[in-house]
Amino acid sequence: MKIIIGWLYPDLMSTYGDRGNIICLTKRCQWRDIDVQAKNLTPESSNKDFTDCDIIIGGGAQDRQQGIVIADLLKRKKELAAMLEDGKVGLFVCGSPQLLGHYYETADQKKLPGLGIFDMATHSGFGKPRLIGNLVAKTDLGVIVGFENHSGRTYLGNVKPFGKVLTGFGNNGQDKTEGAWYKNCLATYSHGPLLPKNPHIADWLITKALEQKYHHSITLEKLDDSLEWQAHQFIVNNR
Ligand code: GLN
Repeated sequence: MKIIIGWLYPDLMSTYGDRGNIICLTKRCQWRDIDVQAKNLTPESSNKDFTDCDIIIGGGAQDRQQGIVIADLLKRKKELAAMLEDGKVGLFVCGSPQLLGHYYETADQKKLPGLGIFDMATHSGFGKPRLIGNLVAKTDLGVIVGFENHSGRTYLGNVKPFGKVLTGFGNNGQDKTEGAWYKNCLATYSHGPLLPKNPHIADWLITKALEQKYHHSITLEKLDDSLEWQAHQFIVNNR
């Protein structure tokens, strides 16, 4: 079995250790003898480079970088939307899901258009404090821990949240929603990076990607995740 991971704009979108998500997925596949290839998707990539990926990963970014990214992403809206609608697996952290909603208003109130794949919108945090700190949320896949640092406030439309905030701010600091879950795509405000501290989420992504690709149910070989769970539990216990 083989998985191709597409990493959206690594030079522009990888804040607070988000590249750890790529390393984590790669290692967890290799430890199980699943072939894995990670591709950097950049403004120079062709659409073919996107469409043969089994998992799409996007990280966080500052407002300036998000402005550069959206100009390129809008050119790929058709391909990316079709893939995600079709059940392709995705994980989008902070700055990248902001661009997959209807729009993102930057901290200085500039409105960037989004791809509208997730029915949500992000309002400017102008004049308000940044939402920073450890984040703990309860999801249908188990508790997740992460670190958030954003000014944007995201409000969901007709899309379910990824989780409910137990500690931290999540989407907007008001309604206790954290991230969004659309088909096989997860959106979250959790950097950290997310996957090494939450191996259950990493394995959910790998399982879903293999099931989508090979059309049968997959049970992954168990790994020794005792260190990962200690790191996870430390955050839960000290919140
Ligand atoms: N620039 C965005 C914001 O401040 C996203 C930040 C991030 O990805 N950490 O809301």
